[in-house]
Amino acid sequence: MFVVILFHMKISEKLKQVNTSISFEFFPPKTPEAEKQLFQTIKDLEPLNPTFVSVTYGAGGSTRDRTRNVVKRIHEETNLTVMAHLTCIGHTKKELIDILQDYKSIGIENILALRGDIPISMENFELPEDGCKYAVELVRLIRENFGDYFCVAVAAYPEGHPESPNIERDVLYFKHKVEAGADFAITQMFFDNRFFYEYVEQLEKEGVNIPVIPGIMPITNFKQIRKFAFMCGATIPEELVKRLEAVEDKPEEVKKIGIEYATEQCIDLLKHGVKGLHFYTLNKSDATIQIYNNIKHLIRN
Ligand SMILES: Cc1cc2nc3c(=O)[nH]c(=O)nc-3n(C[C@H](O)[C@H](O)[C@H](O)COP(=O)(O)OP(=O)(O)OC[C@H]3O[C@@H](n4cnc5c(N)ncnc54)[C@H](O)[C@@H]3O)c2cc1C
Repeated sequence: MFVVILFHMKISEKLKQVNTSISFEFFPPKTPEAEKQLFQTIKDLEPLNPTFVSVTYGAGGSTRDRTRNVVKRIHEETNLTVMAHLTCIGHTKKELIDILQDYKSIGIENILALRGDIPISMENFELPEDGCKYAVELVRLIRENFGDYFCVAVAAYPEGHPESPNIERDVLYFKHKVEAGADFAITQMFFDNRFFYEYVEQLEKEGVNIPVIPGIMPITNFKQIRKFAFMCGATIPEELVKRLEAVEDKPEEVKKIGIEYATEQCIDLLKHGVKGLHFYTLNKSDATIQIYNNIKHLIRN
């Protein structure tokens, strides 16, 4: 009898083997207590058998060591496949290659290649002379220096990236990332699935056919998510805003609505045959577990 060991491998390979991928995103904690909480969250989520988990990277390299340490701990202490986010905007090409070389040396095979944003706190920020201006250049750098060693993911924006003049241009730049060697993509959060379906249709028209996994943000704190959504240009439907505003001072009610809404969103996406669902967990497990339990009858392994 053959036993297929699916952990610790390239996500692109795992995506070929699963029908519906489930994945979770974490951010690198700042304190030992927060790290303890994150690893409890990971322990809670591991039984859901995610295809992969990912760890974000602070803009301009601000979490370089913390991201690396959390990625390494997950890789060494759990059976989870882990993907490291890497933003290029604050680094020289040499620094990026060093970071990637280090990941390779500890056995990490999955990278989410991003541009990142210039941190507001870095007023006098200047792009390094020998750096990468856009994510596509980071994808190229990875392929030129590491061949096929890494599975490379990229970001996608169903409502368009806030800096894009229009969605067509955004789709074109996304296509360039795929041509440069991206294996799959994860989207920015969105709360109206129509944006996702229209976006995927446009990609198909352009002949782009890598898996595009929708990013799901369960609303558990309305103020916080409204701020995130504003920053990344995600529309929160008016009806949902009204429902949340009506209970804004009752955190448990907000969370209940948020979980119900994300559940409906996920069910609709699964019925439309999405390749997977990527949950922005904000390092907490309860909302994600509740949503998962509501939709698990639709998840095909
Ligand atoms: C799933 C996901 C995970 C994320 N994780 C992180 C994280 O860990 N850390 C973090 O700091 N940020 C993260 N982000 C946010 C991301 O860094 C920002 O949205 C950033 O502004 C764009 O990054 P990108 O990789 O999409 O950039 P790009 O693909 O380079 O696009 C950036 C902008 O430039 C435009 N563009 C691209 N190529 C060209 C070109 N050749 N000429 C002119 N314009 C061009 C695009 O249309 C877009 O408007 C994440 C986003 C997503 C969706």
